[in-house]
Order: sequence, then structure tokens, then C-alpha cells
Amino acid sequence: MTVPPPQPPLEPRRCTRLAPSPTGALHLGNARTFLCTWALARQRAWHIVLRVEDLDTPRIKPGVIDLTIDLLAWLGLDWDQGPIIQSHEPAPHLAAMHTLAAQGLVYPCDLSRAQIEQAASAPQEGAHDIAFPASLRPTTIPRRFDDAPPSWRLIVPPGPTTFTDAFAGPQSFDISAIVGDFVVWTRRDPTKPGQPAYQLAVVVDDARQGITDVIRGDDLLDSAARQLLLYRALGLAPEPNYWHLPLVLGPDGKRLAKRHGDTRLDTYRAQGVSPQRVVGLLASYCGLIPSPRPMTASEFRDRFQITMIPHVPARFTQEHHHWLLKKDVS
Ligand code: GLU
Repeated sequence: MTVPPPQPPLEPRRCTRLAPSPTGALHLGNARTFLCTWALARQRAWHIVLRVEDLDTPRIKPGVIDLTIDLLAWLGLDWDQGPIIQSHEPAPHLAAMHTLAAQGLVYPCDLSRAQIEQAASAPQEGAHDIAFPASLRPTTIPRRFDDAPPSWRLIVPPGPTTFTDAFAGPQSFDISAIVGDFVVWTRRDPTKPGQPAYQLAVVVDDARQGITDVIRGDDLLDSAARQLLLYRALGLAPEPNYWHLPLVLGPDGKRLAKRHGDTRLDTYRAQGVSPQRVVGLLASYCGLIPSPRPMTASEFRDRFQITMIPHVPARFTQEHHHWLLKKDVS
């Protein structure tokens, strides 16, 4: 019998996710991230998981999850697995808390914001918030997780967390100085079980769903550093590749918000705007075409080149709004 020559190991299939939070219907900024994620994955034959992140979002109006999924499909996107509704699978998040607690890496905290602010020095320039001072850690760290209210924090080691973002380049964040020990679990209502904070839920789910590539807005760049700390604390590997894309901003250079008008996809859809117009506007934001023109999601995918996305935020203007509302000539 002839022995076949050794075969190179099969490369595991790369996998990304569309991870909408059903806090309200998608707006143009979210839509751009999802369109880019989808196009990158479809070009490279990556697997796509649709995961609805309904944890840590206290006010979910009935029907918003279905609306979010429906709008992704309306844009022309598809996926290979899901929708997985994050809150439906709490066991892995709980198991992660037990793992962290067994290593003495988390502790319960019932300090109020005012108490933390009082103990903290002035926020650093550019920091979102005050950093939780290490001096407020309890002297004994329990080795068991008991879901006691109101929150549990991760012990953050001092020093920078570095990684190379596949789009934004080399990054370094000293999480101990930016946020300090951050909350990984909360139990706001003592009559109900607690819930993982976004940072923990996303790491546990990305790891167990085999996500190799995380593509999202660059408002979450420093979250990636927090998430890498959690990957390491939980002994999860491999760590994903991160691709953080610039946001879509309003005409005033601020994050797209209600004051810039209603840029939600369902509002545009209700006004008769076609998905091709939305995709075409987003294609211009991605540098694929010089100015907006109607385009299908398939054409977007075929033209898409991640290197063409400008490294500065896109600006949504009133002209764009009026262009979206123009009628397509059929
Ligand atoms: N669910 C988050 C959002 O819609 C995305 C989180 C992530 O991609 O890690 O902003």
C-alpha cells in the first residue's frame, strides 16, 4: 500500500459576525459597518454569524429585534448562522464568571458613582470617564462568584495592552489608566438574575462562536483592549483580528444622533427610499465611488476594497439626506 504524502493541515475557516444591538432601528452608521463586514466576509469566503446583542440594553421595545434583522435583509445582506439572541444563552457567560472568580480576578463592588469619583483623581484628557482607582479594591478577593448585586469588576493589570488592528494599525491602551477595574457583571434588580456587561458577553460569545475577525466602528477601539484582557484572563485563544472602521459623523463632526435628523433605515424605508440608494451612499462613504449613485449590495461586495475606506470619519450631510429621498427613475 502506498502511503499518501502528508497533507498540509486545513486552515480553519475564518468567521465574522454581524452584531447589532436592538436599541433602536439601525441608522446609516451601523448600516455602513454591517455592509463592510458582510462584503469583506463574502469576498473572502468567511462564515458570517448574526448575533443580536440584546444584553446590557435595558429598554428593548417589542418588535425591535425582528425589525433589525429585517432591515439587514432589506439592505441585501445575508448570513450563514443565526440569528442568535445573546440573552437566550446565559450559561456560558455565567461559566466565564466562575472561571474568573476561581482565579481571584473579579470582585463584587457596591460603590456608588459618587464614591468612586471622590476617590479618583481628575479624568485623564481623552478618557471617556474616570478610571476606577485600584485603591478601592477590597482587601480580600472572593474565590467564588455568587451573583451578588450590584456589580462585579475585573482586576485590570497595570501597563499597556497592545495589538495591531487590521485596519487602524498598531494600538496601545493602558486600560488601568483609562477605566481601571471595569464592570463585567451587573445585577441591577435583586429579584432577577444578573447579566454580563457588554465586554464580557462579547468575548465569551466571540470565542465560543469561533469568531476570528471582528469588524466594527472605531468608537470600540479601546474596548478591544479590554476584550483582549478578558481573552487572556479566561485563557481563550486564538484572539480575534480586529478591524475598526471610522464612524459616520453628522455635519457638525459629532457622532450621528437624533439632532442630525432621523437617519434610521426604517424611517428612510417608510419614506420609500430604496436599499440601493442607501447602499450607494454608503459606497461613497467607503471610497468605492466618487459620489453616491444607487447600487445593489452585490455590486458593493464586488467593488469593495477595505484599503479604499478613508482613515477619517465619513460626514453625513443634508445633501446626502435629500439625495436619499430622491425618487429612483425606473
Ligand atoms: N452590538 C454593538 C453595536 O451594535 C457592536 C459590538 C461589537 O461589534 O463588538 O454597537
